[in-house]
This record gives sequence, structure tokens and C-alpha cells, in this order.
Amino acid sequence: MSAVDKCLFCDIANKTIPAEIIYETKNVIAFHDINPEAPLHCLIIPKMHIATINELDAKNSFVVAYLYEAAAEIADKYNVAKEGYRVVMNCNKDAGQTVFHLHLHLLAGRKLSWPPG
Ligand code: 5GP
Ligand code: ZN
Repeated sequence: MSAVDKCLFCDIANKTIPAEIIYETKNVIAFHDINPEAPLHCLIIPKMHIATINELDAKNSFVVAYLYEAAAEIADKYNVAKEGYRVVMNCNKDAGQTVFHLHLHLLAGRKLSWPPG
């Protein structure tokens, strides 16, 4: 990403745009989705800018483990771990990705249908 490009989730990660932050570590931040699709719907992102899954490589893929570690901690904190939850990462247009900064959706608090649409 060049210096002139703006990224919404980089701005949330560096706190120049507000969000309801529920989890933060050195590498990861999580916040409630502005348009929730379930009683609990948060987005877990690396602080490092990575546009899509397609940009993952041997140097940056370590952050994906941190995203899942965050998911497990958030599920525990919100008492949904036992009932269950879904984590989803959309990639590019056919999957409906709209924000091009890697993010894991965590959805919980209702029965989720399968397969997704
Ligand atoms: P995608 O469709 O790229 O997988 O998911 C992007 C998600 O970001 C959507 O669920 C959307 O509701 C959420 N989102 C978009 N803009 C904002 C924002 O400014 N703040 C927050 N908290 N979530 C946002
Ligand atoms: Zn970004």
C-alpha cells in the first residue's frame, strides 16, 4: 500500500477512526462490526496492513495464528465458546470482501445456517 492510500482498518488499528474495541495485543485488534449479522459479530484484524488472503506469505502469515488465538479468547470472554461460533474470512469480490485489510469475522449468539449463501 502506498503512503497516499487510505485504509479504514489501518485507521481503526491506529485509533484515528473510532471503533468499539474489545481485544488488543501487540499484533492484533478486534472490534464490533458496525453492521452486525449476529448478536455477537466482531472483526479481528492484524495491525499490519495485509489487503487479502492472497497477500499472505512466509513473512507475514504468522499473524493468522494470532487472529485465531484472539477468536478463542473473545469466544471465551463472551461465553459463546461452548454453544459455538463461526469465523469467516472473505477474499475478493466473489466472497463479498468490501474492506481490503485482512479481517476475520467472528459470529455467534444464534444458530448459523450452513452452507453460507
Ligand atoms: P467484508 O465484507 O470485507 O468481509 O467485511 C467488512 C466488514 O466491515 C462488514 O461486515 C462491515 O459491516 C464492517 N465495517 C465496514 N465499515 C466499518 C466501520 O467503519 N467500522 C466497523 N466497526 N465496521 C465496519
Ligand atoms: Zn490497512
